[in-house]
Amino acid sequence: MNDMKHLPNSPEARDIAYHFHGYTNAAAHAETGPMIIERGEGIYVYDSGGNRYIEALSGLWSAAVGFNEPRLAKAAADQMAKLPFYHNFGHKSHGPAIDLAEKLISLAPVEMSKVFYTNSGSEANDTVLKMLWYRSNSLGQPERKKVIARQRGYHGVTIASGSLTGLPNNHRSFDLPIEGVLHTTCPHFWKDGAPGETEEEFASRCAADLEALIEAEGPETIAAFFAEPVMGAGGVVVPPKTYWEKIQKVLNKYDILLIADEVICGFGRTGQMFGSHTFGMKPDVMVMSKQITSSYVPFTAFMMNERFYAPIAEESGRIGVLGHGYTGGSHPLGAAVALENIAIIEERELVRNARLVGARFRKQLESLQDHPLVGEIRGVGFIAALELVNDKRAKSVTGPVGQLGGLMNAALQRNGAISRNLGDAIAFCPPLITTEEQADDLFAIVKASLDDVT
Ligand code: PLP
Repeated sequence: MNDMKHLPNSPEARDIAYHFHGYTNAAAHAETGPMIIERGEGIYVYDSGGNRYIEALSGLWSAAVGFNEPRLAKAAADQMAKLPFYHNFGHKSHGPAIDLAEKLISLAPVEMSKVFYTNSGSEANDTVLKMLWYRSNSLGQPERKKVIARQRGYHGVTIASGSLTGLPNNHRSFDLPIEGVLHTTCPHFWKDGAPGETEEEFASRCAADLEALIEAEGPETIAAFFAEPVMGAGGVVVPPKTYWEKIQKVLNKYDILLIADEVICGFGRTGQMFGSHTFGMKPDVMVMSKQITSSYVPFTAFMMNERFYAPIAEESGRIGVLGHGYTGGSHPLGAAVALENIAIIEERELVRNARLVGARFRKQLESLQDHPLVGEIRGVGFIAALELVNDKRAKSVTGPVGQLGGLMNAALQRNGAISRNLGDAIAFCPPLITTEEQADDLFAIVKASLDDVT
């Protein structure tokens, strides 16, 4: 394509020529052009023009310790020098994988048994689904293969995890979801609560919807329920009061496993180590990614209890091997960086910081509630969203979904902050190291940007 806006050999022109981006309108990329980020420093990133931005989403809910933590660089360099790669096939192991597995299990809110390593959140959820099938076969329940996730839930983009994801754009033209992956009600009270319904009543309705789906499909066919403690990419949906208590009651009644997708919530985002702590969840499996290494290295893990693990181990014994594993699963670099990252989170009390600074920031956001374009402010810990509307009474936007959110996002960027609009909700999840002063700066940018789009 003829690119008139950029010099022929510039990074921008070469990006347009050669780089196929994820989550981007590919057809519009040549026109829009890339934003090239050159370096990071604390909660800030700098673009190729030297402009500084607060990374209000920590990248992709990722850089818990900020964008230039020297201890992580050192942990990576030391591990590179000592053992840059090894795997865990055929009973092989190495120190970082062992130390990290033990550490993760010690952090779990419920008794866990084993840790399995993968390379991305999508791959982890995909693997959990595959293991569920293996487990059901092992238990002599070959009919128990369906799983339930939620509308607007996000679990990744592979064929299986993209099916678990409950967002239309992740299915459209990809021929997803695959058979056997079902979706139940999104627990967004502000949007979907009926007139006069309380939060608790809405939570009961969500649990009743889940139960009705289980009954309609046949309880003996359902293996597990996949859910994020707080929905992230679906718009930062904090569950209504009593939601998790009621959902878990239904799952227990039908002997259905709970898979907590902690990819965003894990390692402090909700103000406690895991979202499962914050909401009293007792998952059978917890999927962890992103903030596990602050995303400095692509590295993911899921931990499971004995109820999940034992039948899988038995089946592998009968077959002679577990026919599953990844070359990069248990990568020593990722494990070493994860251990150091978790040590920093603990030593610097970043979970507490997220709780305190997050509460202060949300309180500031709430002061915008009367603004004509503000529908809902929601959040917990240091995950928040501002839902924009232009019809406040109808709680909706007239015009294309995401247009207002896109305008706000552009205004934020002009004013020095990068976030993402999830439809018309703007998400705020800055690094857990964010100070009170920096959160105040971010709020000032949000306020100015809101005025710009009004
Ligand atoms: N699960 C959740 C809750 C996520 O937010 C994401 C990514 O944003 C994923 C899974 C998928 O992770 P990845 O992009 O590493 O495949």
